[in-house]
Amino acid sequence: MKGYSVFSLVRNAFSGHRHWNPVWRTPKLRKSYDIVIIGAGGHGLATAYYLASKHGIRNIAVLDKGLIGGGNTGRNTQVTRSNYFWPQSAAFFDHSLKLYENLSRDLNFNVMLSQRGVLTLAHSHHELESLRQRANAIQINGVDSEVMTPAEIKKLVPLLNMSARHPVLGGFIQRRAGISRHDAVAWAYARAADAYGVDIIQQCEVEGFDINDGRIAGLQTTQGKISADKVSIAVAGHTSIMTAKAGFRVPVTSMALQAMVSEPIKPCLDTMVASSAIHMYASQSDRGEIVLGAGADVYTSYAQRGGIPLLEENVSALLELLPAFSRLKLNRQWAGIVDITPDTTPIMGKTPVKNLYISGGWGTGGYKAIPAGGDTMAYTIANDNAHPLIEDFGLERFEIGALIDEGSSSGVAH
Ligand SMILES: Cc1cc2nc3c(=O)[nH]c(=O)nc-3n(C[C@H](O)[C@H](O)[C@H](O)COP(=O)(O)OP(=O)(O)OC[C@H]3O[C@@H](n4cnc5c(N)ncnc54)[C@H](O)[C@@H]3O)c2cc1C
Repeated sequence: MKGYSVFSLVRNAFSGHRHWNPVWRTPKLRKSYDIVIIGAGGHGLATAYYLASKHGIRNIAVLDKGLIGGGNTGRNTQVTRSNYFWPQSAAFFDHSLKLYENLSRDLNFNVMLSQRGVLTLAHSHHELESLRQRANAIQINGVDSEVMTPAEIKKLVPLLNMSARHPVLGGFIQRRAGISRHDAVAWAYARAADAYGVDIIQQCEVEGFDINDGRIAGLQTTQGKISADKVSIAVAGHTSIMTAKAGFRVPVTSMALQAMVSEPIKPCLDTMVASSAIHMYASQSDRGEIVLGAGADVYTSYAQRGGIPLLEENVSALLELLPAFSRLKLNRQWAGIVDITPDTTPIMGKTPVKNLYISGGWGTGGYKAIPAGGDTMAYTIANDNAHPLIEDFGLERFEIGALIDEGSSSGVAH
């Protein structure tokens, strides 16, 4: 893979940026592959990259019905953290954060990771006690987590209204957490996978499977029929649609999760602030926009819009905590479809179909998991055996009741 360098930047700047090579190829779909991954979001692309780079498998296609990173990977609010309650989740998400910490260098593409901290607020004594308990559990998991006093919080976020309807009584922060640039993550993995010869086929929808003797014998796509030794699903909010075509069900609820950004302003919010009680989280993007998110719509839907009442709730919650933003104009609002599992832990690993693997059920928090998701799924597909970090994330947990309840680990309740 050709590296970016200061010399290429200068050379291209002087020629009006007209001579850059395409970052990835536009290959034609071939009839057969060793591995086909459905979904060119962060997870599908990262899985292809690690399969090629770590396991030496290069005859791979990543198929997407739309564009690279055009699903939830390009629609999320970029929060990247690993402060999870259960040891299995903390180990997995911290592996992800560690991969994120070196990703720009590893992939030679700036993913703009900004470890500005993620601060979660407490607004009652009871909430503060639970946050303390969570912060302790997170520390025991080996992940950084610090309880903060109201004075420390005010110093970190001077614009915060400490005496809102629900006053700020404290909070906890993961300082290594932060945000990164979501499109760059998708593009970086796409470019790196392409350099290993992975075919990324855009505008190619998988419509069905030919199943023979409990194995996928062929895939029906909008660009024709193909075959593959192994197939993996990484389609976020459309997982249950895909698994239904393969003949089995997954316990997920698909809902719209929305986000929005204001017009850009000068830097004034240099951490990510979340409040479950007031129900919002906000950060400032590298472009200066205030990025705002909250809970998912409370009904199932595949409409990537998000309901108006929730939009209104999100904005009022922001203004309650950060009233200085009341004069800002809202620039854009959008939504993505998220598949939420009963325990809000993802579903990863093997499936009842012998050569079909799954990475789904990411709900509202799979962006931060992209590097670890790709790494562990690549291992699982290459070895036909779950990676040790995701052994507990398989579909079997719903049969035996070994749920990993991370419901309270989101920045806000979902
Ligand atoms: C508004 C919003 C805010 C969020 N905020 C955060 C956050 O701050 N932090 C965080 O960690 N997570 C967040 N998330 C969740 C995160 O975005 C997702 O969990 C993550 O991006 C999932 O990545 P993916 O690669 O699995 O899916 P996607 O990026 O959605 O990729 C799946 C791809 O599959 C393709 N596809 C679907 N069906 C087919 C088919 N039949 N054939 C071919 N291709 C198909 C789609 O076109 C899509 O490109 C948020 C999500 C939303 C919607």
